[in-house]
Amino acid sequence: MSLLLRPQAIGGPAPVPSHFSRPFWDGCVLGELRILRCLNCSQAIADAPRICWRCHSRELQWEVAIGGAALYSWSVVWRPQTTDFEVPYAVGIVTLDEGIQLVSGLVGCEPGDLAEGMALAVEFHPISEELSLHYFHPVVGATGENLKRGLPDA
Ligand SMILES: [Zn+2]
Repeated sequence: MSLLLRPQAIGGPAPVPSHFSRPFWDGCVLGELRILRCLNCSQAIADAPRICWRCHSRELQWEVAIGGAALYSWSVVWRPQTTDFEVPYAVGIVTLDEGIQLVSGLVGCEPGDLAEGMALAVEFHPISEELSLHYFHPVVGATGENLKRGLPDA
């Protein structure tokens, strides 16, 4: 039996975008991982706050992230909160190439393959007719030197 981590099926639990996070979710539908950039201090922000957490400026602008990341931490879920989730699934904290962290689903490998610092790239999958979710999968190849294997599971 393959334990490949896969995206959740269409019709599964989905986020409810707020007025402030709507541009992020609209980006996911378009295949864009959007982050905020403070126009005053250039801080990148992977959330949808109303002000920059660094300088408190309200001058924030959406931009498209590169889409690369490194795995910082993760959890593999075998007993979900509700039976609406397909298991196993993995949720990770990834450090984007922009230097900020984001919570995301992890796909494209088996749970035991997840390793601290592994190189990741973003991908998107629909969860409903209106929304897509972002996931990160391991990158093998050009950045393969960053793909650490054989480390113990978290
Ligand atoms: Zn700022």
